Amino acid sequence: MSRILFLNGSAHGHINPTLPVVKELVHRGHTVIYFSTVEFKEKIEAAGAEFVDYGEKVYEFFQSYKPAGTHPFFTLIDFMLKMDRVVVPIVLEWLSAKEIDFIVHDAMFGAGNIIAKKLNLPAICSCTSFAMNKLPLPLNMLEPGFHPQLDLLYRDLKDARLEWGFEKLDITDIFFKKEDANLVFTSRCFQPNAAGFDESFKFVGPSIAPRADIFDFPPEEIEKGTVIYISMGTINNGCIDFYLKCIEAFKESKYKIIMSVGNKADIGQLGEIPHNFIVRKHVPQLEVLKKTDVFISHGGLNSVSEALYYGVPVIAIPQANDQPMVARQLVNLGAGLYLDMANVTAELLRDTVSEMVSDCSYKKNSRDLGKSFIQAGGYMAAAEYIIGKGTINNR
Ligand code: UDP
Repeated sequence: MSRILFLNGSAHGHINPTLPVVKELVHRGHTVIYFSTVEFKEKIEAAGAEFVDYGEKVYEFFQSYKPAGTHPFFTLIDFMLKMDRVVVPIVLEWLSAKEIDFIVHDAMFGAGNIIAKKLNLPAICSCTSFAMNKLPLPLNMLEPGFHPQLDLLYRDLKDARLEWGFEKLDITDIFFKKEDANLVFTSRCFQPNAAGFDESFKFVGPSIAPRADIFDFPPEEIEKGTVIYISMGTINNGCIDFYLKCIEAFKESKYKIIMSVGNKADIGQLGEIPHNFIVRKHVPQLEVLKKTDVFISHGGLNSVSEALYYGVPVIAIPQANDQPMVARQLVNLGAGLYLDMANVTAELLRDTVSEMVSDCSYKKNSRDLGKSFIQAGGYMAAAEYIIGKGTINNR
């Protein structure tokens, strides 16, 4: 039996898909040690892993981080590189006193590729967004001198390379922490340009298993009629104006509306909640999706995949990161529609929902994609892949 180290960040979307996999690995007799932040301790322990907190230095980093400029991509890399430099010594120190057999690390967080390379350990990369085989910007934008922030980044990259004792370190090693074995939580059918990904990418579909989330409203409230579920995810979700537009759009409709507004929004600011709405800070999304007819989402890959898994078409209103890409893919495959947040009005929301409810092709295409997800094998296939790749030295 193996001792497996999971390294992840501090985001529901990156952690949720790994939890059923961890549970399955533990069920098969393996030991899983899982680094994340305290917010996720309970969930990780409930999956059967030993939780390890990155500790104070990481929280201090989150609080004190100041971007070196305003370019969105270079700022993201700057954040990731600086975080990696905080995390690497913490994990290496912890590992100096512990034995592990191999590492499973997130594609974006936790510096797992750096740690695995330093210790010459087998590693599997876990991708909870679309897989990537190149940076999302033209090569000329990476030439020294292109942008002052890029030059700072190259300087920091050189410092990190020396600190970690590597001959080579590229922006790609920081942005997408690819390994020889990469686990992707979507299906080849949903992955854009899937033909460009070789066999080192294993597409297992979303990792769906019952969650311990608590329903704080009676599930039978959404048993009947047409259900519209609205969620902007767990990160950029403080969009009160948007929630007000949803209320305006559907307050006199025949639909039952479930709206998850997240921790940043104050429900009190929404005024009187119409009788056909259920508004919560967090809902048991998988259970809600089972009853949903149309999902209005920010287009996070996890949320969208969960919806398609249950054959629910999606109206995507992307906010950031890979969400526009997910939204475009939904449109390309006829399983969703793409709205621009800047143009959203109550009327547009009403008309778009009405189109999706009346045109059954959206539902059919969502179901077809859902089938591709189920066939991809989910968390069981992921657990098998991890064991298979971890126990042969893939490095
Ligand atoms: N989620 C949930 N209940 C909610 C809102 C979100 O369980 O009320 C879960 C959802 O099922 C998904 C994750 O949080 O697994 C959100 O991940 P996603 O990648 O969609 O978006 P992010 O929050 O990372 O932007």
